[in-house]
Formats: sequence, structure tokens, C-alpha cells
Amino acid sequence: MKTLQASRLERLGADILAGAGCSRAEADRVAGYLVGANLAGHDSHGVARLPRYVQMLGSGVMVADQVVDVVVDTPVLAVVDGKFGFGQTVAEQAVAVGVGKCRDAGLAAVGVRNAGHLGRIADWAELAAREGFVSIHFVNAAGSVLVAPFGSVDRRFSTAPYCVGVPVAGREPVMLDFATSVVAEGKVFVASQGGKPVPEDALIGPDGTPGNDPHLLYGDYESTGRRDVRNGSGAIRSFGDHKGSGLALMCEVLGGALSGNGCTAPDRRFANGMLSIYIDPARLDPDDMFPAEVKRYLAFVKSARPAAEGQEILLPGEPEKRMREERLANGIPLSDETWSLLGECARSVGVNAG
Ligand code: NAD
Repeated sequence: MKTLQASRLERLGADILAGAGCSRAEADRVAGYLVGANLAGHDSHGVARLPRYVQMLGSGVMVADQVVDVVVDTPVLAVVDGKFGFGQTVAEQAVAVGVGKCRDAGLAAVGVRNAGHLGRIADWAELAAREGFVSIHFVNAAGSVLVAPFGSVDRRFSTAPYCVGVPVAGREPVMLDFATSVVAEGKVFVASQGGKPVPEDALIGPDGTPGNDPHLLYGDYESTGRRDVRNGSGAIRSFGDHKGSGLALMCEVLGGALSGNGCTAPDRRFANGMLSIYIDPARLDPDDMFPAEVKRYLAFVKSARPAAEGQEILLPGEPEKRMREERLANGIPLSDETWSLLGECARSVGVNAG
């Protein structure tokens, strides 16, 4: 295990991306969001992604420094084509479009298509919450067929994340942000590198037996070798039985079909699609009930008695906030394998990881 300060990891990440062909501005931006995911405790969406990003850039699956095209533009609607640019670059531009329309009209719906990996979706809801806006995001990942629908062993969905961000006066926003699979694929990836194991029933084998062995997803691999989801015979399970499976379907239909990204299919180029809805509570709630009512209700929820002694009721977003504070103070731990793969990736673009 190696522990690094966020600032050092950000510099290293940015150097790698710049070495791979991104502009300095994009390299800094993408590395900042990746390290932000590590700080939030979502290592699956942190710097462990860099070797894949570099590989996607090299193979042309993702393209550096894209300026989006706004292909639909009405007072409350937009469709943004990311032209396979880095998700972090595309999403910042797409959120700016949505926030601008929401400021003017109180409401906006923005479809995002052909975005590279959008990373941690809460990043985009946090940008909206900073403006005081509620936002809802349905996301899919075309080309990334990994998740079995409820009752099945066959892959049909992507890990299709869903996210809702609600600004709260005087404190951090409530931030619900999760994959609609039992775990995000990145968590299986991190587990396959010696990181935290995924829950025992997170995956399912072709015979219908649940399990948590990453080989179910990746087939055979060397410890520092490439993980290829095409080699596995199993799937990740969708979360929450029929309800979670239904939400995953809606993420595919709204984030994939309605955005113009396309639903998940094996023969598609990797691209995140996203349907984002932005609402200005100040415009929807002229009586100004929302700010105080949300605060009152959150306190009521947190006052619920824990089922087990010594536990605490947490709100969505609280685990990430606490982890951020802890990791900013004490550094970000990386497994030996993640660190070695990062070093290898750095060397491949002429950077010394130190
Ligand atoms: P997860 O299972 O850790 O769930 C996270 C959510 O649950 C957060 O809102 C968190 O605040 C909340 N939470 C966690 N513990 C809690 C507790 N004890 N009490 C109350 N709330 C609690 O997340 P995940 O499904 O592994 O997803 C991780 C990340 O992966 C997300 O940021 C998601 O956006 C991202 N993701 C991205 C893609 C993509 O294609 N870009 C695909 C899948 C997932």
C-alpha cells in the first residue's frame, strides 16, 4: 500500500495526461476530478482510471480537448454532443449550458451524447448545487454491457449511474450518486488489483450462482495485466431486485436513447450519455418553503434511532464528505498494484512517477 497526498497525485495525473496528448488545462482538469473521486472514497473513479484513459486516448476512443457542439438549443432544452471528448471536459461545458438555461427559465433539460467517461456523476450535480439548483441525472455507458437485469444471468445494461443533488442552505448539498448495479465496474477492477473486495453477491456466474470473484467479469488475467470484460462469462448484478433493475432500464432509456447517445450494446463505441434536469427551487417555490423544509426534514431523518448500537444515520453525500476530510489530512491510499500500473502508465508517456 502506498499513501500519497492529493496534490502530488494530481500533479502526477496531470503530467501523465499531458504526456499522453491533452492540453495542460485539460490534463489539470481531468486529474483534479480523478483525485476528487479518490478523496471522496470512490477509488473506482480515481487515478486507477488513468491507464485506461491513456489507452482510450491512444486508440482514439476518447479525443483530447473537445469543444462540444450544441445540437439542440431552445430556452429550456439542449442536446450537447461531446464528440468523444474527455467526460470531465464535456460535462463542465454541458453543465454550464444547463445552468445558464435554468438561471433564465427556472428549468432545463440537457441531453449529453458521445461523452468520454464522465467519472463520478456527483461532480456535475455539485456544480449545479453551487448555483443553488436541484439536478437529476440519468446516465448510461454505450458499449459497456456489464449488468444482468433482475432474474437474468446475461449482460444487458451498463452500470448506468443515477444521481440527484439538492442544495441545502448553510451546509453541503445532499448528493445521492450510485451505479444501478450492485457495484460500479471500477470497484470490481479495484478488487481485482488487490483493493477492497466487492460484496459477496455483487456478481453472477453463467449458471446463476452469485459471487464476488473478479474473474467472473474479466476471465483470466495476470495480476498487473489488462482486465478485459469481454473475457468474463459472468455479469454484475443490478441492485435492488426488480426496482433497481427498472431504474437501470430507465437510465439506459433516458440517458441513452433520449439523449441520442444510444443504449448500451456490445458493438457500440464507449460513450457516456446523460439526461440532466436542472430546477431552480427559488422559482418553483415562491413561498420559500424549500430551504427550511429540507433542513428540518434532514434533521428528522438523522434523528432516527440506529438499528445497531454505536451506528449513525448518514445522509447521501456525508460518507464522501467525511472521507474527503480524512484523506485530505492523511493522504490517499493506493494498492501496490494500482501504484505499479500507474508507474507503468507514466513511463509509457515519458513521465517519472517518482
Ligand atoms: P456507492 O454504492 O458507494 O453509493 C454511493 C451513494 O450512496 C452516495 O450517494 C453515498 O453518499 C451514499 N451512501 C453510501 N453509504 C451510505 C450510508 N451509510 N448512508 C447513507 N448514504 C450512503 O456508489 P457506487 O454505486 O459504487 O458508485 C460509485 C461512483 O461511480 C458514483 O460516483 C457513480 O456516479 C460512479 N459511476 C460512474 C459511471 C460512469 O459511467 N461514469 C458508471 C457507474 C458508476
